[in-house]
Amino acid sequence: MIDSHTHLESCAPDDADLVAAAAAEGVDRMLTVGTDGASCRAALAAAETFPQVYAAIGRHPNSASGFDDNDLAELEALAAHERCVAIGETGLDFYRDRTPPADQQRAFEAQIGLAQRSGKPLVIRTRATGEPTIATLRERAQGVRVILHCFSMPDHLDECVEQGWWFSFAGNVTYPSAQSLAEAAERVPEDRLLVETDAPYLSPQPVRKERNQPAFVVHTARFVAERRGVPYEELERTVERNAAELFGW
Ligand SMILES: [Zn+2]
Repeated sequence: MIDSHTHLESCAPDDADLVAAAAAEGVDRMLTVGTDGASCRAALAAAETFPQVYAAIGRHPNSASGFDDNDLAELEALAAHERCVAIGETGLDFYRDRTPPADQQRAFEAQIGLAQRSGKPLVIRTRATGEPTIATLRERAQGVRVILHCFSMPDHLDECVEQGWWFSFAGNVTYPSAQSLAEAAERVPEDRLLVETDAPYLSPQPVRKERNQPAFVVHTARFVAERRGVPYEELERTVERNAAELFGW
């Protein structure tokens, strides 16, 4: 099994404990995602230490205040590391409303360019910003492989499928209140499907009271398999194949 999006550095136990707990559940590949300079360097360090771990290098929209050319140059240098297999997470997040939208947009567009130049897939975060995020990607991200991390826009499913983007489902798809999201998880094309934890956030329903960790992706995968009417092992082969193609791991 894979976890296409986690933040090892933000989880409570040591990386070694998290990786071992994941391995015990059969989770043997994970992408740990940087959100600013320090967490990107931590992600690369984890990826150098553990063969199961790969890094995404990016600037989170809520950390994008004042993003400038120096920040882009730093990202570009970090992203050249051989264990960096994706750019992001980037996108737009107006929900928490901390970072000026113009700064978020500038960082977002810069990282689209970085994905284009590096040939690495782009990990997208969007929260309360479906339409402007989709519009920016349609306008600027031609030729980029786009992963909609923690996909939560069931109303936009069809146009995102049409664009050929990838869909990564997190623990929130398992919540009883998320019926339309669960229906979206049934309909995503097989070759565009991924699962993730976004740990330490969004623990899946069976472990919702615990702090999330990569091992818990199996709960989300089991739920998505059931909704799609396929055995767990088949879902596992599907997401492992999709992640291997995207990340080259
Ligand atoms: Zn994240």
